[in-house]
Amino acid sequence: MNIHEYQAKALLRDYGAPVSDGRVVLKAEEAKTAAGELDGPLWVVKAQIHAGGRGKGKFKEADAGEKGGVRLAKSVEEAETEAKKMLGRTLVTHQTGPAGKQVNRIYIEAGSGIERELYLALLVDRQSSRISFVCSTEGGMDIEEVAANTPEKILSFSVDPATGYQPFHGRRIAFMLGLEGGQVKQCVKLMGILYKLFVDKDMEMLEINPLIVAEGGDLKILDAKFGFDGNATYRHPDIASLRDESEEDPKELEASKFDLNYIALDGDIGCMVNGAGLAMATMDIIKLYGSNPANFLDVGGGATKEKVTEAFKIITSDPQVKGILVNIFGGIMRCDVIAEGVIAAVKEVGLKVPLVVRLEGTNVEKGKEIINTSGLAVIAADDLKDGAEKIVAAVKG
Ligand code: GDP
Ligand code: MN
Repeated sequence: MNIHEYQAKALLRDYGAPVSDGRVVLKAEEAKTAAGELDGPLWVVKAQIHAGGRGKGKFKEADAGEKGGVRLAKSVEEAETEAKKMLGRTLVTHQTGPAGKQVNRIYIEAGSGIERELYLALLVDRQSSRISFVCSTEGGMDIEEVAANTPEKILSFSVDPATGYQPFHGRRIAFMLGLEGGQVKQCVKLMGILYKLFVDKDMEMLEINPLIVAEGGDLKILDAKFGFDGNATYRHPDIASLRDESEEDPKELEASKFDLNYIALDGDIGCMVNGAGLAMATMDIIKLYGSNPANFLDVGGGATKEKVTEAFKIITSDPQVKGILVNIFGGIMRCDVIAEGVIAAVKEVGLKVPLVVRLEGTNVEKGKEIINTSGLAVIAADDLKDGAEKIVAAVKG
């Protein structure tokens, strides 16, 4: 689960990390008052969407030469003008995809003078099963680009959970970042705060890009991107309450209500599969035969007919879907339950695209019989390869 920058900064402030004073506004009329409550002479007006790269992003409705989703203002009036130009518009960044995201909230912050921009992140390193720090002197840049072109400019190490964060971790980061004197002390303290926040709130990712050396030499957090472990939000009602459903894919949101493991993708073949491994294999083989999956969906082991019906409805609601592949290897999941769910969903929402069904395993005969006697134009497949070939062929013409 992700949250907005302004929410992340409020958490950071609570934990004693250095962030600028700021105000969130939902309406342009509130912008001037909000900016007036902050110290000048510089204000930063920032679009709040769950995606990075806002500064270099572009609004769909923007005039030529107009700035992106992070703008500097030299007066409260200017801050208001910029906020007005951003609210309600659609911002496209390299992280939003071509559709972009509508801006419904603006964060206005007291502007900082910048001496240096640095990069810092904490994440769960699955290989070492530990929390890792990642830092670089190349802040403000795309870290993937830095990693690809100049990997020597990135330092990454994990923290032993038995000892937790220790001051030497912070000194190691300070040394890599070229910090000096009082900055080293600030860095050691700040890294301790970030590590504590990360553990306390069951985070998956905490990215600060840029962390800056401000004019005058103090460290400050200028941007913050937080991701939380969705399986642990039940332990953190304060974090769960920060969820902004308007930022989520409506199909994924609907799927989460039915406890379905569904991820929307950009392809044109909708997939309904049981088991995450089989779902991955199904996506791979669709790609192998020249098409792309429209989603990942694992209906799970003990899915009911109702759950399968919902899953099928979510798949068909996607206008990108040009064909559907149902691939079930029934173990705990029974083929007849899947068949009944598919039939029920088709009766409710209709079937406008080709449907290939491959059933195998528990109650396969019963499942096939339900499909065969349903009167639906279903293309039967014998195995995974056959199913993928048939759906790709059906979609391509
Ligand atoms: P992002 O583009 O979504 O990553 O948004 P950021 O919050 O990182 O802002 C993008 C860039 O805007 C930063 O890398 C800075 O160069 C600049 N910026 C953001 N806040 C300030 C500020 O307070 N003062 C100045 N001078 N520049 C800022
Ligand atoms: Mn940033």
